[in-house]
Order: sequence, then C-alpha cells, then structure tokens
Amino acid sequence: MKEALNLIWFKRDLRWQDHAPLKLAIADGLPLLGLFIFEDFNSQDPSWSLRHWQAQYHSLVDMQATNKEAFNGILVLEGDSHEIFSEIAEHCVIKGIYSYQETGEDLSYQRDKKLTKLFTEKGILWKELEQNAVQRGRRNRAAWDENWRNFMSQDLDKPNLPAWQYCRPSVKSHLKSKFGISTLLQKRLKNWPTNFQKIGESAAQFRLEDYLTHKIYRNYGAHIGMPHESRSNCSRLSPFFAWGNLSIRQVYQRSIRELENSPFPRDLRAFISRLHWHSHFVQKFEMEESMEFENLNPAFDSLQKETKPALVQAWQNGQTGYPLIDACMRAVKETGYLNFRMRAVLVSFLCHQLWQNWQEGASFLAQQFLDYIPGIHYPQFQMQSGCTGINTIRIYNPVKQSLEKDPEAKFISEWLPELRELPLAFKHQPWMMTAMEQSFYNFELGRDYPHRIVDIYESGAYARDVLWAFRKSAWVRNENQKILVKHTTAIRDPQQRSKKIMQP
Ligand SMILES: Cc1cc2nc3c(=O)[nH]c(=O)nc-3n(C[C@H](O)[C@H](O)[C@H](O)COP(=O)(O)OP(=O)(O)OC[C@H]3O[C@@H](n4cnc5c(N)ncnc54)[C@H](O)[C@@H]3O)c2cc1C
Repeated sequence: MKEALNLIWFKRDLRWQDHAPLKLAIADGLPLLGLFIFEDFNSQDPSWSLRHWQAQYHSLVDMQATNKEAFNGILVLEGDSHEIFSEIAEHCVIKGIYSYQETGEDLSYQRDKKLTKLFTEKGILWKELEQNAVQRGRRNRAAWDENWRNFMSQDLDKPNLPAWQYCRPSVKSHLKSKFGISTLLQKRLKNWPTNFQKIGESAAQFRLEDYLTHKIYRNYGAHIGMPHESRSNCSRLSPFFAWGNLSIRQVYQRSIRELENSPFPRDLRAFISRLHWHSHFVQKFEMEESMEFENLNPAFDSLQKETKPALVQAWQNGQTGYPLIDACMRAVKETGYLNFRMRAVLVSFLCHQLWQNWQEGASFLAQQFLDYIPGIHYPQFQMQSGCTGINTIRIYNPVKQSLEKDPEAKFISEWLPELRELPLAFKHQPWMMTAMEQSFYNFELGRDYPHRIVDIYESGAYARDVLWAFRKSAWVRNENQKILVKHTTAIRDPQQRSKKIMQP
C-alpha cells in the first residue's frame, strides 16, 4: 500500500530555527519527507552561478552537522522538480507540501506555475507561507509597513524537531537512486574558496551574536559607505538571508533587544532600518516581477544606449583604468561581497559613464554576489541605473568616491597589486604620473595598468544632461505616478492591479 505522507520543501530557507512550514509540517503528525533539490532550471538562469549552489550545499552540510537526527528526514536531490514530485506522487500519497513562497526570477515563477498545475491535478495541497513579511497578491502598499512590524514582532516559529515522523526508508532509497546528486556535482559543490565568508546557520548565528554582543555595529554609520571598513563593520548577514540561514525576524528581534541598552543606538537603528528595506525591495519585485527584464518605468525603453561589448568586458574584468571601479570588481569576483555604496558605484559606472543598459551588467553581478536575492538585486540595479524615474539620479564620480571612501587606498592596494607600491595620490589616479615618475616607480601606464577607457567628466556630463532632460518628459512623469501609487504608501489607488497573483 502506498504510504501517505507530507513533504517539506526547502529552498532559500536552509535553517532549523524560525521555520514556519517545518513547524506546521511536523505538527501535522503524518510521516514527513524533507526535500532539497539542486534544480536543473538554475543552469539556464543567467544570474545563477556555481557559488550559489555551493552556498546552498554548505548550508545543508551545516544543518546536517547541527542536527544529524532531523537531517535524516531530508533528501538532497538533483534534477527537475516537476519530475521529482511526479515520481513521489507515483509511489506515495502526498497529502500536503509545505514550503515558503519564493520571490524568484521568471524561471522559478514558471516552475511554480507548472507545479501548481501538477498538484491541483493530483489533489495535493501546497501550503506556501510568507517569508520575511513579503506578501503575495498585493496590489499596493496599503498597511504594508504595519503588517511588516506585526510579522517581525510575532513569536519565532520553533519546529518541534524530535517529533518528526520519518517516512519509510524505501521511498528515500528509490528517490536517491533516481535523483541522488552525482559524484561530479558533489565534487564541485564541496569546494568553498577561502575568500568566501562561512555560510550556514551556525556561522549565521555566530556572526549575529558577535556583531551585536561585541558592538561591532558601533561604526556602522561611519563605515557603511567605505569599501574596506564596511567589510567588518557592516553585518555581513546578507548571504545568510539569501539562503535562509537566518530569518529577518530573528535578526530584528535580537537587534531590538540589543537596542534597549545599546551605547550606540543611532548605528544600531540604522542597521535595523535596513532589515525593513530588505523586505521592502523583495515586496517590490514580488509585485513587479518583470523588473528582471524590463524597465520599471517603460518610458525609459526609448532611451538610446548602444551596447559596446569592449567597454562591458573591461568593466567585468576590472580593467577600466579607474582604480576604485577595478578594485570593486576584482573584490566581488574573489569574495562574493561588496558594500552597498560600491555596488551602486559599479552600476553607475556601467550605466552612466559607459552609457550601457543595466541589462548588460545585472546578471553578471548577480553571479558574483554570494548574497544574490533577485528581489533586491533587480530593483536596486534599476534604481542605481537612473531609469526608474522616481528615484534621484546618482552619477557617482569614481575618483571622488575613491578619495572620500578609501582615503588611504587600503581597498585599492588590497585588490590592485599593480598599484600597491605607488604613492597614495597615484593609487587613486595613476594617470597623473609623469613619464619620469612612472620610470622612477618602475611602472608604466598601459603596460602595468590600463589607460582610462572613458573620460568620466565628459561621459558624466552627457549622462546627466540626457537623464535629467528625460526625467522631465510628460511620459516619464506620467509613468512615475503609476509607480508611486503601486509601490509607496504615500499615494494609493486601490484600483491598481498586481501582475503577479499566484495561489496554489
Ligand atoms: C546594484 C545592487 C545590487 C544589490 N543586490 C543585492 C542582492 O542581490 N542581495 C542583497 O542581499 N542585497 C543586495 N543589495 C543591497 C546591499 O548592497 C546589500 O544588502 C548589503 O551590502 C549587504 O551587506 P550587509 O549584510 O553587510 O548589510 P548591512 O548594511 O549590515 O545591512 C543588513 C541587512 O539589511 C539588508 N539591506 C542592507 N542594505 C540594503 C539595501 N540597500 N536594500 C535592501 N536591503 C538592504 C540586507 O539584508 C543586509 O544583509 C544590492 C545593492 C545594489 C546597489
């Protein structure tokens, strides 16, 4: 006789604590099979890269290490989720599937639609729960902030792990024989470069406690914009959020407790406000998933930008001739991390100074980020590229940013060894060296480090003129109104329709 069971499907929620679907699934009392799938569709996703799978793999390894017993209930598979669920449905009676909702790229949305159809046909209930107060089916932001605060204040969802009822071993061994991860993939996943920060729930808990207990946040406000200092004074929690090693609620509640006696309340409040931003941006993407491909403000579709592959290549390779830009690019490729301001500076350089469409760089940077979250990445990318119409246009001057945010060129020296031996002023602007100075330092511009690929004063002025003129057009302003009504709490129109209303 087929076994009746429930499934708990782990995706970007790789933790034991504060896990609502896991709590509900265990409480239901039926045999429960946990699933994690390295999904085929990811390899077709231009924003996905091996490091994202590695982060998931190491998060799973950590879950196994911290609770071997409970991890016995989880199967780690590789393949197409539709095929895997169909196979399980062949051999078992699936009563329910528990998971968090995923605000992902179009490919994951298409997968979910396909699965919804399958589950409906088979009479399976898919119970998807909200993650981090991001709500599905919203048409505007009415009362969204209140909902966020309520969600964050509720008790954490503690799954009763010892009560987990395992399903029959035969089901697991059958699935493993068909969809178990190949030795080849496992070998690739095991690798975790030493330059990457540790991942997994244990590392996440450790970093959170360390950050708050030792008041590492004390310089948050002063250092958040600085590429070198931010690496230790920002929380570095973003990869843990990306793979769900921590929930926003866990961090919010712990930080609010810390705030009661904090000697640095200003810095801590600034940090806490970012937790709200996190959900805010993901909510925006949830309601406007076309942002992965299209301008939020369609009026910007008519902005003329000619793709110049050589410029994009130089940007991607960290060979633009602007030390701060190149250091940022090389750092993010090596470590998967960059602070907010420097991400914005990189995007501004691509879209303003090199005058390229944001689509030319969005996937590439997503691949580099260990904390890649589509819901933050695409809205931020569009915002920094200056084509939303509703946000201030910020055209960063990479030299000014370099002098202000990396005044001792610590960051530049770390990531551009070819400039390390130069005097400070030339680390920021190597093109200022005379031929005699170059020979004195045994350095040759064009040989040891590239010439600048654009004149930022000319290109910046051009971008400024075009973008500001464009913003004033009636078309842009008209579209702005629609965006504000839908995505802000200030202006509301209940008649607005969300494009993405998807229920199982
Ligand atoms: C072009 C661009 C792309 C980005 N892509 C991503 C991405 O894929 N994933 C991602 O997590 N963040 C992204 N960000 C936002 C931000 O840069 C990172 O969240 C932050 O740098 C992570 O470092 P931290 O954890 O030390 O942040 P902290 O400053 O310590 O902040 C704590 C948390 O608040 C949230 N947060 C902080 N800043 C922002 C922000 N500006 N918008 C939304 N949430 C924020 C993050 O969850 C972060 O972990 C992007 C920013 C830009 C400009």
